Amino acid sequence: MSEERKIVLLVSGGPDSATLAKIAEKELRKTGGAVNAIYLKSGHPSDEKEIEAANAIIKEIGGKLEIIDISDMVQALGNGRVLIHSEAAILPHGNTLVLSLAAAYARRIGAKEIWIGLHKDDADENIEYTKDFISKLQGILNIISSELTINTPLLDKRKEEVFEIGGSLGLDYSKTWSCIRGNKQHCGNCGACRSRRRAFNLSKQNDPTNYVNEPLALDTAVHE
Ligand SMILES: [Zn+2]
Repeated sequence: MSEERKIVLLVSGGPDSATLAKIAEKELRKTGGAVNAIYLKSGHPSDEKEIEAANAIIKEIGGKLEIIDISDMVQALGNGRVLIHSEAAILPHGNTLVLSLAAAYARRIGAKEIWIGLHKDDADENIEYTKDFISKLQGILNIISSELTINTPLLDKRKEEVFEIGGSLGLDYSKTWSCIRGNKQHCGNCGACRSRRRAFNLSKQNDPTNYVNEPLALDTAVHE
């Protein structure tokens, strides 16, 4: 009997990782297997809304979700975000920590694939999200476990292209969460909200988000 395919998918509750989850769902329909998603709870104000979104997304694709609390670690390292969020402070070595943790998790559950929803805009902003960096990290991980692969199917796409893919796969964007603030609704003004709005506009997808604030004038900045 062949082993069941297992994908460790890093989920944040945002549209990018939700699109990734839909891609995994589509692929697993052909090959069989399961998504074992992990959400890294970092102690930030948006944790609760992100977990709600991550739960909804992973439930929709029939996967499992494990919430791993890394808030004490994040606090001790200066409280930056371990993964990219527009305008929010990013923890240096954050992606290295995240992918190493995902690798250890994959080993524990017997998975050989780690999927992460990084895209081209992320790679343009930070070296830890580039193809070259991921490939080098892959090499390091393979010294420990030769069978493990890091899969970044969205890394050649712009954020708006990711939204187009999500739309074509029937992703319900109302289930996703982007805002870095801990309110009940998207604020509409933080970097993550503006980036979300911009991607909806550029991709010509219907934006179902109820933002508290109207778009700022000359709202063109994505990463600052
Ligand atoms: Zn916001």
